[in-house]
Amino acid sequence: MKYVVVSGGVISGIGKGVLASSTGMLLKTLGLKVTSIKIDPYMNIDAGTMSPLEHGECFVLDDGGETDLDLGNKERYLGIPNVLGIHKQDTLITTGKIYSHVFSEKRRGDYLGSTVQFVPHLTTHFRDWIQRVSKIPVDDTGLEPDVCIIELGGTVGDIESAPFVEALRQFQFEVGRENFALIHVSLVPVIHGEQKTKPTQAAIKDLRSLGLIPDMIACRCSEELNRSTIDKIAMFCHVGPEQVVNVHDVNSTYHVPLLLLKQHMIDYLHSRLKLGEVPLTLEDK
Ligand code: ADP
Repeated sequence: MKYVVVSGGVISGIGKGVLASSTGMLLKTLGLKVTSIKIDPYMNIDAGTMSPLEHGECFVLDDGGETDLDLGNKERYLGIPNVLGIHKQDTLITTGKIYSHVFSEKRRGDYLGSTVQFVPHLTTHFRDWIQRVSKIPVDDTGLEPDVCIIELGGTVGDIESAPFVEALRQFQFEVGRENFALIHVSLVPVIHGEQKTKPTQAAIKDLRSLGLIPDMIACRCSEELNRSTIDKIAMFCHVGPEQVVNVHDVNSTYHVPLLLLKQHMIDYLHSRLKLGEVPLTLEDK
């Protein structure tokens, strides 16, 4: 199982959901089975009672799960049917959900004798959750998916996302480097006609200080990035220029997969995650 984590910096609502869905869609075109998990670092158990003015429309799953609108994007981009059945709402992880499960385990006596802590109890529960849900088949072949796209909501560096960032830091070692890639979505504002890279430099510094290393930096910008902007981000963020992806504003978010394709994002992920070694099922070949 390969994991592609999509996180975000600088501001919220930067387009992580669209990027995660688009990446999943492109991986699907390689014949891979793609599933997804969304992490929302709020204390609500689900999105059912949250204001749509703040978070957008609540997306209701076939199994009754009341979730973030990003799960709607993922269903549309990835064409995930209802095969996940009763487990479907488990693809949305919130802080509230994880805490409530750990509390139930504690009341059941699972941690007798231990001091229940954020690390390792919460982080381990979260890592186990990802491993379990990512293996649930997404089509009627009944086979395990090959790739799981994990979108970390919020902004890296926020207090709210800290437990998940720490758990993902541990997770990269649990699954191994060739099975874990991270795409960080950042903002390049245009001020007086100049594309500014400083917010991205600061966001990547925050990310690295928390133990997560970006494999790709997806830059949201109102216009196409200049060559010099890409080179500057690559130099100051300690990545190659081919790891900096330009995600400028488009008329329809359904153009984003094509934008990523043109920039050879899939070729990079293919070699980084050794996707050529993933055996495809006969019908996919
Ligand atoms: P996040 O997951 O970071 O909160 P979303 O993926 O929900 O962000 O996107 C936030 C908003 O930005 C949505 O309305 C989405 O349609 C829009 N958006 C995302 N990417 C682009 C893009 N490349 N061009 C134009 N609009 C975009």
